[in-house]
Amino acid sequence: MAEVAPQIRPRRSLKPEVVRWLAARGVEVADLAEIVYKLQVPYNPRLTMRECIESVEAVLDKREVQHAILTGITLDLLADEGALPEPLQQIIASDDPLYGIDEVLALSITNVYGSIGLTSFGYLDKCKEGLLGRLNNGENGFTNTFLDDIVAGLAAAASARIAHKVQES
Ligand code: MG
Repeated sequence: MAEVAPQIRPRRSLKPEVVRWLAARGVEVADLAEIVYKLQVPYNPRLTMRECIESVEAVLDKREVQHAILTGITLDLLADEGALPEPLQQIIASDDPLYGIDEVLALSITNVYGSIGLTSFGYLDKCKEGLLGRLNNGENGFTNTFLDDIVAGLAAAASARIAHKVQES
């Protein structure tokens, strides 16, 4: 009897949910695209905001990216509710500079498009461009320990995706 290939059932996309979660924490696709534009326009003067938005959307289509976003925002959210067990509650709520797992999680987003993304991530982590500066100052009124790195990771990945396309064309 012929062997039957296992059926892989397509799972529903988490993207609409992820976009809603980001928006609820004050992060819009347009904000991300703006950071991507500023990163890439020096190398690509004909770049448009539309291409940047498309690139952010493509990054948000990746399941590993969606999982990283859901995980990070959940931890920020639980920290806001004081619902994490100690010592993690104190560490995440105070954005302890020695913690570092927020950056590690965000690198799983950046790594999707290889090492170009890594350089941009490092740069964004220092310069706190646009929305990143506002998150860093806590302007959305939430704990952003994971969210700021997620935003940098998304912008770096979308930016690397554009850089790869320019190199290939
Ligand atoms: Mg952080």
